[in-house]
Amino acid sequence: MAIQQKDRARPAVPLNERLFRLDEAEGGIPVLLGWRCPDCGHHFFPHRTICPGCGHIGLEEVDLSRRGKVWTYTIAHQVPPGAIVEAPYVIARIELPEAVLVSSLITDCAPEEVRVGMEVEITPVKVREDEEGRDVLAFAFRPVKKPAKETKS
Ligand SMILES: [Zn+2]
Repeated sequence: MAIQQKDRARPAVPLNERLFRLDEAEGGIPVLLGWRCPDCGHHFFPHRTICPGCGHIGLEEVDLSRRGKVWTYTIAHQVPPGAIVEAPYVIARIELPEAVLVSSLITDCAPEEVRVGMEVEITPVKVREDEEGRDVLAFAFRPVKKPAKETKS
């Protein structure tokens, strides 16, 4: 995969702050912003105002889990113009423990290695630099490596 992964010593900003924030204490790991219904407890992503389950208005923002499992995936053989990836690449639906499905690139892994049910974790992907020299980061998911955490410095 030809996604640029740089160290996170530089200041960084999320590509879309409505979808995720960056956890500075954890070295800039993206944290997906989920929405929880205080009535029925269902979680949603991305943002919703009204719970489609029970009709409750006013959902609470919560951090979603960083790990999930590949629910289904597609291998793409063409890239749109200006894309940060090279073909072939994998777009997956990731199922999080909150019973939320998130669409994401799979990175750090060959397309043929991706499996349904594979454990994956969120990771930052640099998209570009902004005018102030900050890294603009998107999120992707990658296979979980053996020990729980791999710290980037
Ligand atoms: Zn509800």
